[in-house]
Amino acid sequence: MPRTEISSDKTYASGPLFVRLWRGYLSRHWPKMVVAAVLMVIEGSTLGALSWIIKPLFDKVFVDGQIHMLWLVGGAIFGLFLIRAMTSVCSRWMLSAVAQATSSAMQVDLVRHILTLDQSFFQQNPPGALIERVQGDTLAVQGVWSTFITGAGRDVVALVSLFGVAIAIDPRWTLAALIGAPLLIMPTLIAQRYIRKKTRQMRAQSSDRATRLDEIFHGIAAVKLNRLEDYQMRRFSGLVGHIRKAMVKMAAIQSMIPALIDVVTGFGFFAVLVLGGHEIAEGRRSVGEFMSFFTAMSLAFQPLRRLGGLAGTWQTAAASLERVYRVFDITPEVRSPDTPAARPATMEVRLDDVWLSYGDKPVLRGLSFTAEAGKTTALVGPSGAGKSTVFNLLTRLVDPDRGTVSVGGVSVAALDLGVLRSLFSTVAQDATLFDETIRDNILLGRTDISEAQLNTALTVAHVTEFTDAMPLGLDSPAGPRGSALSGGQRQRVAIARAVLRDAPVLLLDEATSALDTASEAKVAQALDHLSAGRTTLVIAHRLSTVRNADHIVVVVEGRVAEEGTHDTLLAKGGVYADLCRLQLVE
Ligand code: ADP
Repeated sequence: MPRTEISSDKTYASGPLFVRLWRGYLSRHWPKMVVAAVLMVIEGSTLGALSWIIKPLFDKVFVDGQIHMLWLVGGAIFGLFLIRAMTSVCSRWMLSAVAQATSSAMQVDLVRHILTLDQSFFQQNPPGALIERVQGDTLAVQGVWSTFITGAGRDVVALVSLFGVAIAIDPRWTLAALIGAPLLIMPTLIAQRYIRKKTRQMRAQSSDRATRLDEIFHGIAAVKLNRLEDYQMRRFSGLVGHIRKAMVKMAAIQSMIPALIDVVTGFGFFAVLVLGGHEIAEGRRSVGEFMSFFTAMSLAFQPLRRLGGLAGTWQTAAASLERVYRVFDITPEVRSPDTPAARPATMEVRLDDVWLSYGDKPVLRGLSFTAEAGKTTALVGPSGAGKSTVFNLLTRLVDPDRGTVSVGGVSVAALDLGVLRSLFSTVAQDATLFDETIRDNILLGRTDISEAQLNTALTVAHVTEFTDAMPLGLDSPAGPRGSALSGGQRQRVAIARAVLRDAPVLLLDEATSALDTASEAKVAQALDHLSAGRTTLVIAHRLSTVRNADHIVVVVEGRVAEEGTHDTLLAKGGVYADLCRLQLVE
């Protein structure tokens, strides 16, 4: 069986990751992004304009005393702030619309993809960890693109316009202001790596946290009965502690880049003051020019800090995106063939020299048998012999390593998966119920069932007997995982589902001990009714079921030990006779 575990060592370089994100989720929103970027550009350039206006304010109004200009300059400043307010509201609105659209699209795609993955994937990846990927990691896409647009659209333009003003006033002053900038390169690169590494750890720990919570809440009865509350709490708080430490470290490193920018800017200010201060004192430059330059530099400060943080933001997002794409890159082994065969005409089920291992552990070793169409075939044998695995092979929850599994002479691998699975109704030992009403649990979203059909199914499956006693009847909630119903009731709900499904092959895993005698009799009656005329494979635990079966296959260690009818096998005095003597078929 293939290993489909999400590989944790696969890494993605930033460039290809961003291209993939752009192609998959961002590019389709380009018109909105362009509008948002234009609005951001306008917003950003108001800063440059603001610093430009400072010059006439000082030189004309304050120094020359042209008071009539006060109104003009004041009005212009107010107008700039008004433009800034409007563009910022509109662009943020647009940004968040796209951010939400991209992350929800990614969530839907991810769940759609996960649903196609093999059963083995779900055995290796606990539900909590998958939930964390779907709900937590996809959010990264929101942050990335809005930060980039904000960064590129507003902050870069603000910087360009502010430096434009600065250069126009004096290129030498500008150069002096930027004197410390090269010092930023190395620390930024180091910080980026560190942030990616820490975020990776933190995301993995968040997955563990979700898994732990899922297991605690699903296993709440076991936790309480074994008095595991303290133990579970210790493990949980340990995990939370790790996440907290990683977050704090990351935040500290992330804040280092803007802090370095502070230092470099401070140094730049100092250099400009030394250079420019002299020139003004000597009368070679106006106060207005210096103030305008100084304002431009001061306004450049915030956008610079934000842009400095951008690399860190990308690394945080990239660590999450990497986790999302790792799942997208897993392809299911169990797939429908490109040109599926036609639905088989008869329902004879056949396994021919089937071998299957889970890892190194052989489970089926050359299993061959035939279950005749329209007859009941009982599978018996010790626990762990591979009986349930036969059901999984038929429905293609797993594929064999070797050998063929066929229905009506058609290999199950040649059929469309949907068609194949529609051939079977499975009633398992522990029916999976959803946290919905009993009615919804039986209908399972089907709208083509008439009230009369539903009522027949309810009667045949002996469901009405217990729902009638409930105040809400069929509309009573089944509780999380069907916990509001007893084992026998859950199984009867599963039988009602199977009746409505009306599939030609029935796969029954008989309950062992979950039922009391009265429920057991009801369930047995319901099952008898259901299997009449259908090809039925039953993993039998009760002697009465085996006795009534048309054919018995005794499976031991993944092979057929013997087969025949109850009488022939009993007469043979082999494994079956031993099992019967014990009155207990595991
Ligand atoms: P039975 O139904 O006869 O009790 P199963 O078919 O459920 O036996 O299991 C056969 C063997 O395969 C068991 O030893 C079980 O531990 C092993 N097995 C079943 N599913 C898996 C799995 N997903 N991974 C590893 N081993 C498995």
